[in-house]
Amino acid sequence: MSTHVKVEEKLFQNRYRVDGGRPHIQIKDAEVCVSQCGTQPCTVCCPAGCYTQENNGRVVLITDGCLECGTCRIICDDFRNVTWEYPRGGYGVLFKFG
Ligand code: SF4
Ligand code: SF4
Repeated sequence: MSTHVKVEEKLFQNRYRVDGGRPHIQIKDAEVCVSQCGTQPCTVCCPAGCYTQENNGRVVLITDGCLECGTCRIICDDFRNVTWEYPRGGYGVLFKFG
């Protein structure tokens, strides 16, 4: 039997505390995502699947489960359309090691 542990299973072991109404990452201008960005890489690069591409071309960001990896900030460098901060103390992802 394989002992390989899938990323999803590892992620499930992390706990996440949602800071209600205070998302620590936000899309600055939703229109830029629709009319300028093109490939919308954040919708495929976020390991937690926080960015979703809608049928109408809009991108929805829900930060629950965000791993604070910073990928979306880097991937959006051309447009700098993401504001990014760490969550307030005590909120956000609580990594479980081991
Ligand atoms: S990469 Fe930036 S500009 Fe493009 S869809 Fe994502 S947030 Fe919007
Ligand atoms: S910081 Fe990482 S996990 Fe959080 S929304 Fe951005 S890409 Fe996703």
